[in-house]
Amino acid sequence: MRAVVFAHAHSVTVQNVSDAVIEEPGDVVIRVTSSAICGTDLHMYDGRTGATPGLVLGHEPLGVVEQAGRAVEMVKPGDRVVIPTHVYCGVCVNCARGLSAACLRVRPGGFGAAYGYAGMGPYRGAQAELLRVPFADANCVKVPGQPGDGMEDDLVLLADAFVTGWHATELAQLRAGMTVAVFGAGTIGLLAAYSALLKGAAEVYVVDAVRERLDKAAEIGAVPVDYRRGDPVDQIRELRMDRGLAPGEEAMRGVDAGIDAVGFQAYGRQERGVENPRQVVDDLARLVNPTGHLAVIGVYPEQDLNPAPEGHADGRLTVPWGTFFSKGISVRFGRTHDRRYTVLLRDMVLSGRARPGVVVTHHGRLDDAPGLYRAFDQRADGVVKAVLRP
Ligand SMILES: [Zn+2]
Ligand SMILES: [Zn+2]
Repeated sequence: MRAVVFAHAHSVTVQNVSDAVIEEPGDVVIRVTSSAICGTDLHMYDGRTGATPGLVLGHEPLGVVEQAGRAVEMVKPGDRVVIPTHVYCGVCVNCARGLSAACLRVRPGGFGAAYGYAGMGPYRGAQAELLRVPFADANCVKVPGQPGDGMEDDLVLLADAFVTGWHATELAQLRAGMTVAVFGAGTIGLLAAYSALLKGAAEVYVVDAVRERLDKAAEIGAVPVDYRRGDPVDQIRELRMDRGLAPGEEAMRGVDAGIDAVGFQAYGRQERGVENPRQVVDDLARLVNPTGHLAVIGVYPEQDLNPAPEGHADGRLTVPWGTFFSKGISVRFGRTHDRRYTVLLRDMVLSGRARPGVVVTHHGRLDDAPGLYRAFDQRADGVVKAVLRP
């Protein structure tokens, strides 16, 4: 089968690799019809998080079951399925508690696993013609329709991006009427903003510096904030003032909830193009109101092969802990627990309530992957979200 393979820093190639096959009775093999490229793939592409040459990339697949192992009961060949990024067994104590990102059976000696992801288990990636799905009864989420129909882009985003965006709003304890600032208008940030609006947030600000991404933020109903025009915290405070604060809120011109959808490869504002992994958390510590909430959904890796001046190879970071303590801000992290949300969000797509596919800007074949990775990495050619159709 053909697959997108990590070659070395800033290079992926499309190669023939051995076909995905059934290895355990509970596996299925799916024929991938759509497979999205994620910002997380770029952390590996940039040579930061320890991907080994030869790794098949990709963790956001939609497809059709091609073959099912003899123990699989819930799906059969021909079923259209979306496969959540994080592999889980469905029955260990963490899965039973709905904490499927910390499944105890999918990565020997660790917890949680994902497809095509350095340090997250042995599962090959989904930017390929075929994908082996272990624990298929738990991991296959059935969807109706036919490959290539009008829902293809909405459904492929159920694998990771929409679910992770929704999870960010859960971490931020978002409720109707709240104000929220999302830093980062990549797909996760945009779909976190979109989820916040679906939940009835009163005001949603999205901070970024790429015009096409800010345009998307506006398109989904958020207020775009371009940090090239100045301190985004000051900009949001002014925007809130201009809109008119609720009576009594004058002393508290920040937001109820902040979402960091950037992670460790954030750019600082002092020097153009220089990373500062502290920038976003520092800004949100200033911006979030006393007793508010901070959700960190952007990736902070345990290993950074080429840390920025403010970072460390082992992932340590200096954060304004005292500010969070004195303001009483809750800070929550973590990968999405797909099992909790995927079916709910699928049904919102099927009912027409949610159309996350609005963030998709580019499509290509597997052979287009090297060019799409390059453009996405450089935030060039308007690539916000690219979906490969093998
Ligand atoms: Zn992803
Ligand atoms: Zn489990």
